[in-house]
Amino acid sequence: MSKKRIAIFGSTGSIGTQALDVIAANPDLFTAEILTAQTNDSLLIKQAIQFNPSTVVIGDEKKYLIVKEALAHTDIKVFSGERALEEVASLDAYDMMLAGIVGYAGLKPTLRAIEIGKPIALANKETLVVAGDIIMRKAMEKRIPIIPVDSEHSAIFQCLVGEGRNKIEKIILTASGGPFFGKKPNFLVNVKKDHALQHPNWSMGAKITIDSATLMNKGLEMIEAKWLFNLSYDQIQVLVHPQSIIHSMVQFEDGSLKAQMGLPDMKLPIQYAMAFPQRIANQFPRYDFKKPNTLSFEEPDTKTFRNLALAMEAMRLGGNMPCILNAANEIAVYAFLRNRIGFLDMTEVVEQTMARISFIESPGLEEYFETDGEARNFAASLIHM
Ligand code: NAD
Ligand code: MG
Repeated sequence: MSKKRIAIFGSTGSIGTQALDVIAANPDLFTAEILTAQTNDSLLIKQAIQFNPSTVVIGDEKKYLIVKEALAHTDIKVFSGERALEEVASLDAYDMMLAGIVGYAGLKPTLRAIEIGKPIALANKETLVVAGDIIMRKAMEKRIPIIPVDSEHSAIFQCLVGEGRNKIEKIILTASGGPFFGKKPNFLVNVKKDHALQHPNWSMGAKITIDSATLMNKGLEMIEAKWLFNLSYDQIQVLVHPQSIIHSMVQFEDGSLKAQMGLPDMKLPIQYAMAFPQRIANQFPRYDFKKPNTLSFEEPDTKTFRNLALAMEAMRLGGNMPCILNAANEIAVYAFLRNRIGFLDMTEVVEQTMARISFIESPGLEEYFETDGEARNFAASLIHM
């Protein structure tokens, strides 16, 4: 079997580096063909020397010469800038894109890859939150799979293998609850970024770690699931499961529930998506039922963690509302990470932006781009006030 050539967009991130670990552990199955990073030139250079891709992109144009010179003794082509991401995504030289960029920035390159018929291993959930209808339609037209990397969606995807046209009654997305599970607003108002960045079960990039602490992540995941699995609003339930052993469940129309379980380790859904439909043997630690364990489940507290309620509302309204929610949230999270606003202010920014930006029921791609820009500007104006 020829090796699958993977294009890792966001190779220096939490998902990207773990995808490279999977490639390093399975050199007979995969090669890293394209690597991209935004600012971390030194790690990108190190990865390029180790994995010898044909092409790398450094987003930050100020870093172009550093990367170019460091790789001058190799055949690796070096590009820079936002447009280069789309151009490189359009190359024929790879077999699958691992979409590991964080945020809205991942949308355009992923769209390009779909348009030229490349299968996608999708970590970048924001792509589906912003323009899920267009992404799924284009993927269907090109007959290419979008295989989720997000652990919950990978779980559901795995539960659906072999089920053909059997109808889903509902899915249950599990949530760890994040570091502030059980806390109330009087505690959250004083939360600082260092505390919010400590997730109990997963080690991830800064943005998704904050989203996990506010439960926005689970809201984004509900919207992601709606598009991936063609579900309606009332078919998606969230359950807090602090141990993160059951990664999610599907309930079929006969009432039967299927769950996918295991220790929390993103390398598992990453390698599953990259190798699908095969499974790859590994030595990752196994979950042990003989050790004392309790698996517990609770309803999420949407009155305290209002971001989840806002995301559910955006999903119910549809149109460009999830795009507005996502843009405002990105601005709010980065402002919180720069200590510009408090933990609960993030929700205010999202709520006010959703109330202000014009609703469009069936937006086209350009309208999504415009909505994103308008929502960002408005959200930023709230923070500078
Ligand atoms: P991260 O911050 O660790 O890495 C992000 C990557 O994207 C980096 O390589 C960075 O260089 C690149 N990047 C950042 N901004 C960019 C921009 N403007 N243009 C181009 N590239 C840019 O993030 P992460 O935790 O790896 O998450 C990546 C995506 O995967 C997110 O959408 C996240 O929601 C999703 N995800 C992550 C995890 C996890 O365990 N980390 C789990 C599930 C889903
Ligand atoms: Mg997840």
